[in-house]
Amino acid sequence: MAMAQFGATPNGGVCRLALSDADKAARDQFVRWCEAAGCAITIDQMGNIFARRAGKRVDSPPVMACSHLDSVPTGGKFDGTLGVLAALEVVETLNDSQVATDAPIVIASWTNEEGVRFAPAMIASGVFAGIFDLEFALGRVDKDGRNIRQELQRIGYAGTAECQRWPLGAVFELHIEQGPVLEAAGKQVGIVTGVPAIRWMRLVLEGQEAHAGSTPMHLRRDPVRAAVAILQNAYDYIKRFLPDARFTVGNLLAEPGVVNTIPGKLAITLDVRHPSDKVVTEIEQWWHRVARDNGAILEKLWVSPSVQFSPEGITAVEKAANVVGASAMHLGSGAGHDAVHLTRVAPTGMIFIPCKGGLSHNEAESITPQDAATGANVLLHAILQVAQLV
Ligand SMILES: [Zn+2]
Repeated sequence: MAMAQFGATPNGGVCRLALSDADKAARDQFVRWCEAAGCAITIDQMGNIFARRAGKRVDSPPVMACSHLDSVPTGGKFDGTLGVLAALEVVETLNDSQVATDAPIVIASWTNEEGVRFAPAMIASGVFAGIFDLEFALGRVDKDGRNIRQELQRIGYAGTAECQRWPLGAVFELHIEQGPVLEAAGKQVGIVTGVPAIRWMRLVLEGQEAHAGSTPMHLRRDPVRAAVAILQNAYDYIKRFLPDARFTVGNLLAEPGVVNTIPGKLAITLDVRHPSDKVVTEIEQWWHRVARDNGAILEKLWVSPSVQFSPEGITAVEKAANVVGASAMHLGSGAGHDAVHLTRVAPTGMIFIPCKGGLSHNEAESITPQDAATGANVLLHAILQVAQLV
């Protein structure tokens, strides 16, 4: 709640765009809290903040707990912030209990996770994991023409530590689910198995522009009529891949797009998701056949392969949920997270807790203190699984 004051909106949400003044204020507060907890702070070239609690053994790779403090323009209090502050809570709890771990613990707050001010999302964890080039990332510009390098300098977070991977024993991220599955199932904790494969396509149907009044129905070439039949088939077809498949038509664009003209062209966006890359490819092939059969064009817009969290990461979270006595279930993540990039660096696990009505990227985003505590306890015990056993 204290963190939510930085960038607070009148409707109870948060607007804390990456590298804005509100983000700077949130970072400063976070750093003060971490220093008060005895952590050593490092800022890297992407402005990522690392707060390190020393371990008993200097040669042990640290265990990382991470998330982000930036938000979307009409965001909630908990997306990202929960994971960063729960990690700090873990450190404070270990301090209070005078528990020393073998491996150091590092809290990481990643820059520009949301990707709304600077695209793409998760850019700074991506540089750390070796997915994006540092110069590419620093040069990304916002809509006003200011780039990440300038904005990092402006707010005082252009760090000197090299932004590149270093050895980590494991990585954990606690996050709100941002969907309705846990709440519907009545579970306290989600053990995240991975992020599904995503494919974006666009189906373009050609017709013939003609007058809505003077062209009889049987003499029209109307792409909307064709689309109705195609989409009916598509919604039937996707049923065979349930419950895991997701199919969304997010945009239908008719041209010229006026009331009294049969469109000459209709473009439909297709968003297909499934945990299996094979299934998504099969669905794409189905769409190629549909396009061929209807004389339409199918454009491929984006391919994002599925990501599986490692068995070690998943097992650590499972065991931790057991220790805490939390009711848990396995589930995939519908959204991308920094932890996805970290799978390239170390065994990674992710913990979800429910959010009210599944709402996120919304000022009404809400969680209960009990669920937050349960999630933080699972994070603590997941960290201890790895940090103690060196
Ligand atoms: Zn997030």
